[in-house]
Amino acid sequence: MREEFLKIKSRVNLKPCPYCGCENELWQHEQSVGYVRKVVMCSNNGDEDNFIEPCPMHMPPEGFYMATKREAVKIANTRSNLELEELADRAAVFYDDIITQIGSLCIQDFQNLNELGILLTKHKKK
Ligand SMILES: [Zn+2]
Repeated sequence: MREEFLKIKSRVNLKPCPYCGCENELWQHEQSVGYVRKVVMCSNNGDEDNFIEPCPMHMPPEGFYMATKREAVKIANTRSNLELEELADRAAVFYDDIITQIGSLCIQDFQNLNELGILLTKHKKK
């Protein structure tokens, strides 16, 4: 059988996606018969027509898939914040140390560039 995603209701309020601020949703993921896990995914799936990439949390990493709804919500609400802080710190170091040294950049990976832009904006707001 194919793997399946099924949208389910969360009794706990989901925080908005820490990356892009869009609504988070709780999903049930069945990878194979009997192997069912829950995962919180960002509802931002980009816009193909306008070349806008989906949010990185639209398809979260393996570590966000949990056995229960409660765990999935908890990990989405805490772990993504931690990862975001770590990335923001790295982006700040990058911004302060590297950009000032090399002056200009040639970045070809637009998804990374987009993520870096989001992180730098958040860092500046602090
Ligand atoms: Zn998002």
